[in-house]
Amino acid sequence: MESYRESQKHLARPYRKAVLQTLLILTAISGLLFFTLNIQRENYPLAFAELGMACYSVFIFWAIGNTKHLERWILAFILPFCITMMFALTSPRATTTVFAWVLLIPILSHLLMGRGLGLLVSAVFMGTAAVIFFFKYHDAPEMMQPLPIANMGLMSLTILAFSHIYEITREQSESRLLKMAQTDALTGLANRARLSDVFEQERKRSLRNGTPLSMLVLDLDHFKQVNDQHGHEAGDLALRHVASTLRASLRATDLATRLGGEEFAILLTNTTADQAHRVADKIRNAIESNPVPHQDQSIGLTISGGIAQFGPDGGDLRSLIGRADQYLYHAKDSGRNRIISSDNALTPCQA
Ligand code: GH3
Ligand code: MG
Ligand code: MG
Repeated sequence: MESYRESQKHLARPYRKAVLQTLLILTAISGLLFFTLNIQRENYPLAFAELGMACYSVFIFWAIGNTKHLERWILAFILPFCITMMFALTSPRATTTVFAWVLLIPILSHLLMGRGLGLLVSAVFMGTAAVIFFFKYHDAPEMMQPLPIANMGLMSLTILAFSHIYEITREQSESRLLKMAQTDALTGLANRARLSDVFEQERKRSLRNGTPLSMLVLDLDHFKQVNDQHGHEAGDLALRHVASTLRASLRATDLATRLGGEEFAILLTNTTADQAHRVADKIRNAIESNPVPHQDQSIGLTISGGIAQFGPDGGDLRSLIGRADQYLYHAKDSGRNRIISSDNALTPCQA
């Protein structure tokens, strides 16, 4: 089953792409500027390294136009970008202020690669920059004073810590929001948005591995009467009761969702329509034999359902739910409290 982390990766893509595009434009402009300045100072190796980075930025800008592999392009840019920066630091003719650019590394790598890879890339290149600094200035007493070293060291560590903490809290709040956006508030089950994310992954898995995939749509029978006779709160309680019955009856790899109102959809992975029918009957029995305790009464519930199998009954989420709905209406027409799939449907298409 697709994790929220997978959905989060998709969510981060547009903003990482925007950060990368901005970085590419700035690198191209500043590369050309430093190329000119270094040519004037006759520092040719650095001048051509800067020109190379400017051209490479333009190429990457073109390459990421509609790529599906943004993560790879980010690495393909950030590594040469940092290596060129290290090369500039080693240049004997570069000014000391060039070390200020190192402070960009933790910010950019966290924005572009997230907390794990961001921290790793920052640690490697900031560490390398520190080593270059000591080799370059170890015999320059004015640079080896405790105060300038403390200033630079603490500034670097502070920016690294802020970038890392920011990225951790950003990822956490994004994942909280994503979970909220994909959860039904009343029952705590997944909602339709999550179903469509998960279905897409499971559809691909089913096609790749040739494994069956089934959709079960359930609808409570005469639920309006529950609200009318016991009140809306009792109706809500009944919906939560059904949700916990579903949770208890399913495997971790299945996905139970509330489609809306008193209608539920369950995606059963690695399950044929026939096997799904047995699961659905188990759920139907559990709901029928466990009335909802409410005040000093108990509210009896029954449920009807339709089952559609990916492939024979439809190739996308819409058509699969549509076909399961047809079977469901057929179940309602034939007396409710029953499950219908292609196996036991008499005239499903006319239902
Ligand atoms: P059928 O057996 O044909 O499905 O009949 P039904 O009464 O279940 O179907 P109908 O579509 O006529 O009514 C559905 C009812 O579900 C109406 C509405 O009040 C109730 N309902 C929908 N969402 C909620 C909810 O969030 N809470 C409560 N308490 N009731 C809800
Ligand atoms: Mg109903
Ligand atoms: Mg309904």
